[in-house]
Amino acid sequence: MRSLPGKVIKTNVKAELDLRESAKALVLDIQRFSTEDGPGLRTTVFFMGCNLVCAWCHNPESTLFKKQVQWMGTRCIGCRRCLAACANDGLEFIEEGLTIDRKKCVACTSCVSACPTGAMEVKGIEWELHDLVHEVLKDRAYFGKDGGVTLSGGEALMQGLFVEKFLKELKNKGVHTAVDTAALVPRSTIERVLPYTDLVMLDLKLFDAVLHKKFTRTDNGLILENAKFLSDYINIHRRPELWIRTPIIPNATNTEENILAIGNFIRNDLSGTPSKWELCSFNNLCEDKYKRLNLKWDYTNVPLLRKSEMEHLYQVALNSGVDPDIVTWSGAIMVEN
Ligand code: SF4
Ligand code: SF4
Repeated sequence: MRSLPGKVIKTNVKAELDLRESAKALVLDIQRFSTEDGPGLRTTVFFMGCNLVCAWCHNPESTLFKKQVQWMGTRCIGCRRCLAACANDGLEFIEEGLTIDRKKCVACTSCVSACPTGAMEVKGIEWELHDLVHEVLKDRAYFGKDGGVTLSGGEALMQGLFVEKFLKELKNKGVHTAVDTAALVPRSTIERVLPYTDLVMLDLKLFDAVLHKKFTRTDNGLILENAKFLSDYINIHRRPELWIRTPIIPNATNTEENILAIGNFIRNDLSGTPSKWELCSFNNLCEDKYKRLNLKWDYTNVPLLRKSEMEHLYQVALNSGVDPDIVTWSGAIMVEN
């Protein structure tokens, strides 16, 4: 097992981003009928690549900006055709099952083609713009008045050029658009996508700079600056809608100090622009994803939060002075007797 790979976060984020500008997008998944990624029923496109390394990441398969193969043990019949198909000697059966040596694997997908049961899967498919637009518009019938398309990840805005064009196409077709982002991207990227975005769902995880770096391996200065820019933009243009989302993670973000600090920031620096501040409770459903990727997860066996803990932090958020009407909490909680 290995930990999530460390990443060098360049001071000049723009330089890194430019490498990822492409006419095609690398997409992890398209999720339909989602009720948790914005208003109404939505189709969510999960883009690959992320420039934060959150200790609790719920989508480890989306963090790298590259195609990856993974093994679904429940589908495997042990025929070993995948091993024979790998020219790089990247696969090995050990007691716990099949392991993929990520240093040797070049994601050629030969093992995926060779597997008769679908136990070897590839994550990360390249999409042309018009094909992806066509794909999500198949779901248009159920979007209704409130629903639409959400761009998530990973960090969707790391593929800014494609995302701008994708959003523009959707807006031209009258589809409601939402972007779920941590905003660790150049301001110019945000400026480019805002004209075609109806809702920004901005993650504010930790306000303290030292703790932010400790738990996400990145500074939060640019994130907070971009949040203020978004607020200024909304005050001028009266759009898009802005939701703030704070993941409530045990021993990381779930402190009174953190919730109060984020609340103060929303009240003092975002000048009433967010229409929702949602505290999202930790969930551990992603544990199997880490196993499939041979990754170690620091939150293995960490239980869900109790309802009383979430309600307490909700009260702290209310006491921070933000408009109480915008505060809410959601997510899985431990069943208490
Ligand atoms: S994707 Fe290619 S290199 Fe990677 S394990 Fe499979 S066959 Fe080997
Ligand atoms: S080819 Fe597929 S079914 Fe056969 S051992 Fe490999 S993963 Fe398992």
